[in-house]
Amino acid sequence: MSDAGASDPNAVPATPESEPEPEPEAPPPAEEDNGHRAVSVGIIGAGWAGLAAASDLCDAGIEVTVYEASHTPGGRARRVDNHSNASVRPMDNGQHLMLGAYTQTLALMRRLGQNPDKLLRRIPLTLQALDGRFRLHAPRMNAPWHGVMALATAQGLGVGDRLKAIIGMARLRQRSWAVDNTHTVADLMRSLGQTPRSMQLLWEPLCLAALNTPATQASAVIFARVLRDSLDGATENSDLLIPRTDLSALWADAAVKRCNMRYGVKVQKLHLIEGGVAVETVTAEGVDYVGHDAVIVATPPSATRRMLADMQDVDYLLEQLNAFQYLPIATLNVRFASPVRLPLPMMMLHENPARQHLGQWVFDRGALLGLPPVNGEFTIVVSAREQLISLSREEVINGLLAQLGEQWAARSAKPLPAIAAYELFVDKRATFAAVRGLARPGVASPWERIMFAGDWTDTGYPSVLEGAVRSGVKAAQKTLSRLQ
Ligand SMILES: Cc1cc2nc3c(=O)[nH]c(=O)nc-3n(C[C@H](O)[C@H](O)[C@H](O)COP(=O)(O)OP(=O)(O)OC[C@H]3O[C@@H](n4cnc5c(N)ncnc54)[C@H](O)[C@@H]3O)c2cc1C
Repeated sequence: MSDAGASDPNAVPATPESEPEPEPEAPPPAEEDNGHRAVSVGIIGAGWAGLAAASDLCDAGIEVTVYEASHTPGGRARRVDNHSNASVRPMDNGQHLMLGAYTQTLALMRRLGQNPDKLLRRIPLTLQALDGRFRLHAPRMNAPWHGVMALATAQGLGVGDRLKAIIGMARLRQRSWAVDNTHTVADLMRSLGQTPRSMQLLWEPLCLAALNTPATQASAVIFARVLRDSLDGATENSDLLIPRTDLSALWADAAVKRCNMRYGVKVQKLHLIEGGVAVETVTAEGVDYVGHDAVIVATPPSATRRMLADMQDVDYLLEQLNAFQYLPIATLNVRFASPVRLPLPMMMLHENPARQHLGQWVFDRGALLGLPPVNGEFTIVVSAREQLISLSREEVINGLLAQLGEQWAARSAKPLPAIAAYELFVDKRATFAAVRGLARPGVASPWERIMFAGDWTDTGYPSVLEGAVRSGVKAAQKTLSRLQ
């Protein structure tokens, strides 16, 4: 590895005379080891993207320091230890669902010695409504026949709906899943002749679950990519994978053991220096600068933009970062006073926003985590609904509990047990809106020694875990090639 300079090695920022903080310096001379200089890479952000990059760089023998503003690894997919309601068990910041097509995430877990078969519950694609009005199940057949059979036997759709769904998917596949990039998912499905009923029961819920963006706004290109990867590859790619442990324990906890982690450290700015990049950090102790041979910025677009705001001639990049819009996700964890189980680990809820019935999915958290069956625990998920912002927390909670009770009653004569505790998490900026025409930067920044990682980079995926991991893996590869 050489220590060739960044694109503008002389661009050391001026420090005002009155400013007592140290100036950014070149990376400190690393210890010689058999004549090879240990290369140091700074990674900003310990989300799935940053930690995926960190893990691969550690494997390549790089000295990695991860700067994380919070105190827990995992970013938007993490364990939450210090929740306010002591009567609900430690939990995650939000229920996450993965797909069999998340191949790079599964491979990363294995590289870190984490067994996905134990840590994730794998279920063949099954979408079943709690109130019994819809059911779709993919049998274990070779792709694409498992998808064809799932659509052909879907309950709740009429013969015409099912036939049009099969023909629509066949047409998409025939076109190699290529779609008009000006189309929304609603446009695409209309052009494929999908009926209002299949839109309501199948395509809109799938679009929300996969892209966290309503079908009327969501990018047809990104949706077609998700359909292709899950339905047109190996049969298992369409499987649903649901964590059986907290999210940080899936692999982030294992990854951080291998890096120099600096928690509670917020990176303010990056400075190009001779031989690399200086990271300007702020902690309770004050401002500091640390030099690295290269830096991977794995923070969300808004934080990335702030970090780069003083860089020269990158207005187009700052505009791209500014163009991202965000959508909320809410997660309501409910603990019952006595045992109760859902028929399946994950079931669909029927939405009715006019009645504040905003829930789209309910998960049997107790069964998934293998909790003792003394108390049932369910998790209700609401994706991309603006009412999450406009309604009070109390209104959201009451609406969701009423919805759950009503749709449970449609299935079972026995009412749900009394509720012992609940806790609502609302993340107002859970994901970026996967809208059409969004220009997403790649992992290679305009500067030789700065790389980007994050679900928002041009992975082709929506704002999901697999996109974050893929970007991290790619950023690590790019860093290694630029350091050679
Ligand atoms: C409630 C919820 C539910 C979701 N459900 C799903 C799902 O079911 N399936 C799915 O695939 N995806 C889901 N997602 C999306 C998924 O969580 C994200 O796509 C993924 O976690 C993004 O990872 P990332 O590393 O790109 O970014 P992040 O996780 O946002 O990581 C960025 C990190 O940078 C840190 N940081 C920010 N600024 C600074 C700074 N200045 N200095 C230092 N550190 C900084 C942050 O604290 C954070 O840890 C969900 C997201 C949420 C919030």
